[in-house]
Amino acid sequence: MLLRMSTLLLRTLREDPADAEVPSHRLLLRAGYVRRAAPGGYTWLPLGKLVLDRVTEIVRSEMAAIGDQEVHFPALLPAEPYRTSGRWTEYGDDIFTLADRKGAEHLLAPTHEEMAALLVKDLFTSYRDFPVTLFQIQTKFRDEARPRAGVLRGREFLMKDAYSFDLDEAGLQKAYDRHRNAYTKIFEKLGLDFTVVHAMSGAMGGSASEEFLAATPVGEDTFVGCTECDYAANTEAVVTRAPAAGDPAAHPVLEVHDTPETPTIASLVELANARALGDRTDWAAADTLKNVVLTVRRPGAETGELLVIGLPGDREVDLKRVGAAVHPATVAVFEDWAAHPELVRGYLGPQILAKHGIRYLVDPRVVTGTAWLTGANEPGRHAVDVVCGRDFTPDGTIEAAEVRPGDPCPGCATGELTMRRGIEVGHIFQLGRRFTDAFAVDVLGPEGKPVRPTMGCYGIGVSRAVAAVAEQHHDDRGLIWPAAVAPCDVHLVAAGKGPQLDAALDLGGRLSAAGLRVLVDDRTHVSAGVKFTDAELVGIPRAVVVGRRLAEGYVELRDRASGERVELPVEGLVERLL
Ligand code: ATP
Ligand code: MG
Ligand code: MG
Ligand code: MG
Repeated sequence: MLLRMSTLLLRTLREDPADAEVPSHRLLLRAGYVRRAAPGGYTWLPLGKLVLDRVTEIVRSEMAAIGDQEVHFPALLPAEPYRTSGRWTEYGDDIFTLADRKGAEHLLAPTHEEMAALLVKDLFTSYRDFPVTLFQIQTKFRDEARPRAGVLRGREFLMKDAYSFDLDEAGLQKAYDRHRNAYTKIFEKLGLDFTVVHAMSGAMGGSASEEFLAATPVGEDTFVGCTECDYAANTEAVVTRAPAAGDPAAHPVLEVHDTPETPTIASLVELANARALGDRTDWAAADTLKNVVLTVRRPGAETGELLVIGLPGDREVDLKRVGAAVHPATVAVFEDWAAHPELVRGYLGPQILAKHGIRYLVDPRVVTGTAWLTGANEPGRHAVDVVCGRDFTPDGTIEAAEVRPGDPCPGCATGELTMRRGIEVGHIFQLGRRFTDAFAVDVLGPEGKPVRPTMGCYGIGVSRAVAAVAEQHHDDRGLIWPAAVAPCDVHLVAAGKGPQLDAALDLGGRLSAAGLRVLVDDRTHVSAGVKFTDAELVGIPRAVVVGRRLAEGYVELRDRASGERVELPVEGLVERLL
């Protein structure tokens, strides 16, 4: 492959784009890998597409290596299966929905468990057909609350998703372990510094779940690692290791007084019920897996309160059932939150709540992900991370639920936890029978009785991984791609016109004939200095400068990562670079 800079669809930018706040986003834009096309939607330019394809191929070949079979589901799907599984409402505003010309409801798939389960039901009838694992690499759609950082969190993004089907738990465990190993290989090949952490299952349900987090300060996930053992967990998941439900010491009954200032649980529930069916102007209801978040404003009051109502163990959240299912100890009231208008604009985590001295009550069983709220004093939706707490104080208030470094490790109890930030690049789940139950996927078992397969699902953010690699491999001059994912193997720079340009093109032709991917900077209207700057920005691992010493038969080889430069004879260069 030989690309010529003079004709390549590439415009490098000298200045940082104003809307790009993280390094990978800035550099992928500046070096001409992606262009923003829509909110949360990016066009991959030729160099970007090459990197994306290389990452895709690494993922695909490791999936094939563990026997997963590639399929391709439609992205445009009818609503019905997602209603059957309950995820039509569970995903809530996160899914893009649309109607066809006959008015039938559809969605753009955020992930495909339903389709995988239905396909297996459609084709397989006997236990002899198992185990089987399907995977696809496909565009996914999610109406993210906060699309950010370019392809790191898009509303349209490329995901590899795999679905395993086994007849028993032991089979599922094997499939899960296989994917865990394959993911480790993939992220190693991509050159990522990553940690596998215990995770929460989020909107998927299910039990065992681990995330692959690429460490970077711009990551949205906080995770902890132990100083002594190999325990590592998403901080959300650490919180779930709070005292077990049913332990009376761990779950004091909340005291909520029946005063105008402090509504009773019953009155809150009544309010929730009434509002759930009413207009949505000054409150928001959101159904995540286990929680409903409402903001309410008492008549005449300037400020509002944020309520978190948890539905322990309830998978399908139906707002109309909130009143019936709510457990008294799972109500939390954030007091005075609306006195802090700045809070509702951004991340409203326990740290921020603690910083502002905002008191809140919450039950440790309320394990949650992201919910929604509408600020009483600001229209529009805002994401709020609701995190449960661990340490009830005697008066029923709770310390902020954050894990601190320095906390004892829940894994070994001797080490201490230290905290880091990361980007979720992969996620593996032991789903169980949630989806096979939903669609009654039964096959004939060995004893003639029907058996219901158990599922695992395994996702990799392929487009996000490109940004994660960029996040970990750059300096202030530009990108520094690991060789395995670089758009090209060699960047040839013709420092001058005439013989230098001819020699660069000749060398480029020979290198590409020898099987290397080559980018030749053959532009004649820019200075050598601009070409060097661009070469560093674009970040191909090796650059060969054809410059002044060509007359004596020498070129310069520059290593992007180390900055090392050596002069080499043109003679024998092709063999040397292979
Ligand atoms: P996040 O916590 O970042 O929102 P998620 O947990 O919602 O991700 P999963 O449902 O686990 O995502 O999807 C599998 C993988 O898809 C994730 O591990 C991540 O790498 C990728 N992914 C999810 N959402 C996005 C997005 N909006 N843009 C790019 N990649 C994404
Ligand atoms: Mg998400
Ligand atoms: Mg996640
Ligand atoms: Mg996830």
